[in-house]
Amino acid sequence: VSVDLRRMNKVEWINEKDRRICVQAGITGSDLEAWLGERGYCVGHEPDSVELSTLGGWIATNASGMKKNRYGNIEDIVENVTMISPKGIIEQVEPFARASIGFKPQNILFGSEGNLGIITKAILKIHEKPKIKKYNSVMFKNWETGVEFLYNLSRTNFIPSSVRLVDNVQFRFGQALKPRTEGLMKIKANIQKFFVLNVKGFNADEMCATTFVMEGTSSEVRYQEKNILALAKKHGGLVGGSGNGKRGYLLTFAIAYVRDFLTDFHIIGETMETTVPWSKIDEVCKAATETLFELHAKHNIPGKPYISYRIPQIYHTGVCIYFMLGMSVKNIPHSEDLFGNIEHAIRKVIMEHGGSISHHHGVGKLRKDFMDATLSDSSMELIKDMKNAHDPGNVFGIGNGIFAK
Ligand SMILES: Cc1cc2nc3c(=O)[nH]c(=O)nc-3n(C[C@H](O)[C@H](O)[C@H](O)COP(=O)(O)OP(=O)(O)OC[C@H]3O[C@@H](n4cnc5c(N)ncnc54)[C@H](O)[C@@H]3O)c2cc1C
Repeated sequence: VSVDLRRMNKVEWINEKDRRICVQAGITGSDLEAWLGERGYCVGHEPDSVELSTLGGWIATNASGMKKNRYGNIEDIVENVTMISPKGIIEQVEPFARASIGFKPQNILFGSEGNLGIITKAILKIHEKPKIKKYNSVMFKNWETGVEFLYNLSRTNFIPSSVRLVDNVQFRFGQALKPRTEGLMKIKANIQKFFVLNVKGFNADEMCATTFVMEGTSSEVRYQEKNILALAKKHGGLVGGSGNGKRGYLLTFAIAYVRDFLTDFHIIGETMETTVPWSKIDEVCKAATETLFELHAKHNIPGKPYISYRIPQIYHTGVCIYFMLGMSVKNIPHSEDLFGNIEHAIRKVIMEHGGSISHHHGVGKLRKDFMDATLSDSSMELIKDMKNAHDPGNVFGIGNGIFAK
């Protein structure tokens, strides 16, 4: 049995004074933002899947939006969740700005991945739509300098809504997808390229880029931009401008669909993400890359594998690293299984070097084997006991996470 919540997509109420909205769980991100936008508000949750993913799915998977620095991840945005479970309705009677009420059952609903019941609605925080939204970008000589810049940015009070660092491979991939320029624009682009490579001495095979989305009042945005660019300058960064910033930010929404397009050309591609402490970033990136190349060679897969990575989220203690993998599998038997095994091996290596099971994709079935290395035995018992007591007939038998077979 599968349940489609697409028709449960209504806004039940909005309380402008308390900055809250109650929305049914089947609403998509785009529809929610469009409804609020017409009234001058936003929630600000913007995952790359914003067009298709739903409020219920965000809660069930512990989702993370690209603009979390301003609006928070899903757990910061949601104030109350309603779930219909085999034993009844799980919810707080009232939402609270914050509450010390002992155990909070609704916390268990985050990341429940369909195992406990159906999330039917939630109360979310809303914000006035920012008056100004501005993009910018900065290029750095290499990945290490870009990471150092992010580290120093993470301890300031001018972190923009979104900040992202892409590695050299992804930077070049983005350049390759740029629309072709003609006439004066082409001359300008060539001069810029000459300046970056010949005058500033950047190496085209090492440089990387950060993109920023800054939001707020004009003075807020001005303050952020001034300080970000000053910090970037200290790290030898070169300003790439708002056009490149916007293109870079929006590119990942498009990249999300590249996987389906490439399948027609016998290329399997997938994304993997993890949370890593600041001290382990390089180690994890290197280990993942080496493992992919080793396994690609070991299985005699033709051509060269593709791997690139970016840091889409920064935190006080670490970052999210987002990998993109791909390889040509023409004439390879059982290529999906082979790719799945390679992905599994890379996840293992990522975790052995300090990365987590997932930052926002959740566990599902693919990552079930890594729960042992994530939660203590008694923690898993606690979750199983709760599930068995609350859903003894296993009505919600989707089997995700620790319930996966
Ligand atoms: C191209 C692409 C880009 C993505 N980018 C991001 C990103 O930037 N950030 C991010 O966090 N994630 C991202 N994701 C992952 C995915 O979009 C998120 O996990 C999203 O939160 C899932 O929402 P959904 O409505 O699509 O749920 P589904 O994929 O339909 O379901 C996901 C899980 O949640 C459960 N579930 C869904 N709705 C409910 C409900 N109402 N009640 C109970 N359980 C429910 C399902 O049973 C399932 O186990 C991306 C995925 C793709 C394909």
